[in-house]
Amino acid sequence: MNCLITGGAGFIGSNLADELIKKHHVTVFDNLSSGKEEHFAHHSGNPNFRFVKGDLTDPKAIEKAMVGIEMVFHLAANPDVRHGIDHTRIDLEQGTIATHNVLEAMRKAGTKKIAFSSSSTVYGEATVLPTPETYGPMLPISLYGASKLACEGLISSYCHSFGMQAWMFRFANVIGHRGTHGVLVDFIEKLRKDPHNLEILGDGKQKKSYFLVQDCVAGIMTGTEKSSEPINIFNLACEEWTDVTGVADIVVSEMGLKDVKYHYTGGTRGWVGDIPKTWLSTEKARSMGWRTKHSSEEAVRLAVRELLKTQ
Ligand code: NAD
Repeated sequence: MNCLITGGAGFIGSNLADELIKKHHVTVFDNLSSGKEEHFAHHSGNPNFRFVKGDLTDPKAIEKAMVGIEMVFHLAANPDVRHGIDHTRIDLEQGTIATHNVLEAMRKAGTKKIAFSSSSTVYGEATVLPTPETYGPMLPISLYGASKLACEGLISSYCHSFGMQAWMFRFANVIGHRGTHGVLVDFIEKLRKDPHNLEILGDGKQKKSYFLVQDCVAGIMTGTEKSSEPINIFNLACEEWTDVTGVADIVVSEMGLKDVKYHYTGGTRGWVGDIPKTWLSTEKARSMGWRTKHSSEEAVRLAVRELLKTQ
């Protein structure tokens, strides 16, 4: 199959490209804003690989790249929930409008299948934990989450209107190989600058589920290969959660540090729009045979080791 991965030079996208290329022809479409050429350099010379440097906010660029594509894996977006506070158009432009441009390019090229990287943030502060895919009403509390929900709506309506088929994956916190952002990278960078003190956003009690990028990619592969409804939605997460102080303890111990003083910025949230407790039900994905290979804490430890080796 001829696949196109938007954001394929990024953290999750490049790991997905490594998996898809085993069976398919892969085009990576990326503007390299947070993605890196070194994430796909090992495919250069492979006749099943093509890199297109382009920006999804340019409709002509994605229309040109879409010709002959059978399935899109749409991962490009602003990846950081926090940016929306200072840049209130970023999620609209890099998320919602970019997704509209992808769908229009698909419609014009006759591409029928799309897999989309959504997020647990679409649920907002869910009152049902673990939260199933059927939870509602969905009321995001960040502009990032609002854009993800808007993208899901656009994708659903393009499926209905133009005979497309979609797989939407709502990820918890994905960590590990080629990670470039998020709490682990933040803590490592801060501790390298000052190995005695660590600033922790919030009260350290926020609880989240962390899972490795290899498990995330396996979830995308399982979902797309084993479900065939017109619209297929899956939570992808670990069944346990880890609090932020627990994450800090693991980073400190893996870096071999002692007597690090934690400085909490206070409040129950790390930032405006942060959801203090996220716990997704993964029953649906598990019923298809997928599950994470590691607990949330094991995933954090393995990801920290990986990041310390490579960064
Ligand atoms: P990432 O920043 O590593 O990847 C995003 C990629 O998209 C980058 O390579 C970037 O250069 C590219 N990109 C951004 N805007 C673009 C544009 N306008 N045109 C072309 N390319 C563009 O982030 P990631 O963590 O790999 O996230 C991938 C997707 O998964 C994102 O949609 C993100 O919202 C979603 N997601 C990630 C997590 C997580 O924990 N990492 C959790 C939930 C959802």
